Amino acid sequence: MSDVKFLNVHKNFGQLEVLKGINLTVHKQQVVCLIGPSGSGKSTLLRCVNHLEMTTSGAITVGGRMIGYDVHGDQLQEASEAEINKRRSKIGMVFQSFNLFGHMTAKENVMFGPTKLLKMSKKDAEEHACELLRKVGLADRMNNYPSQLSGGQQQRVAIARALSMKPEVMLFDEPTSALDPELVGEVLDVMKQLARDGMTMIVVTHEMGFAREVGDVVVFMDDGVIVEQGDPREVLSNPQHERTKSFLSKVI
Ligand code: ADP
Ligand code: MG
Repeated sequence: MSDVKFLNVHKNFGQLEVLKGINLTVHKQQVVCLIGPSGSGKSTLLRCVNHLEMTTSGAITVGGRMIGYDVHGDQLQEASEAEINKRRSKIGMVFQSFNLFGHMTAKENVMFGPTKLLKMSKKDAEEHACELLRKVGLADRMNNYPSQLSGGQQQRVAIARALSMKPEVMLFDEPTSALDPELVGEVLDVMKQLARDGMTMIVVTHEMGFAREVGDVVVFMDDGVIVEQGDPREVLSNPQHERTKSFLSKVI
């Protein structure tokens, strides 16, 4: 497991400044829940961690290493495509939309990364995929195609697929927001188990119960800045800032 550090991270889209100097440390094996209104920059922050977006300035390190850049003397240079992909493969990401390959079974989806990118043998990848699918409660669904699975089951396959690359950190961007309410719990349970197993996790979520129960730290973002962060029980029950109070009064 690795820690993740954000050092004065700025991100602009043209004239629009979306991240305005984010400083945050996520320690190894910590679960950090990121909350805040729509448009506050939560997804962009996550996307910068695995270089789906390039930061405009500042740095993000995972396990002490920047994902998209190398330091040469006192110069930053963008790392090669191959190197970025290698580093990115150690960062698992789960999105609101499950993004499974529709023409592959659950098991094939989970085997894809290890066989194609890690060059794992088919036999080893299959064993590992079965183990992961059992872990997310899908032992009896391994040979089903995504269209034959519920949203909650598809999202659990997506989690297993991310885990198949043996990530050092897992990023979740509103993983339960697209699910019918009765399917949310089964996905949160898998995430809880991951947290108990010691995975380092950054979770963008509107599930305040999850943040309170599983989060080590909750971070409230608004308009590209971290307004307040701390122990979830304190921040969620006794927010210090007006903006946090106003946001929480709408979602809780
Ligand atoms: P959140 O996840 O908190 O809802 P986002 O990170 O998705 O917020 O978006 C933050 C802001 O950045 C929004 O104003 C959004 O419109 C803008 N934004 C996000 N991605 C892009 C992009 N690729 N190009 C231009 N603007 C973007
Ligand atoms: Mg978002």
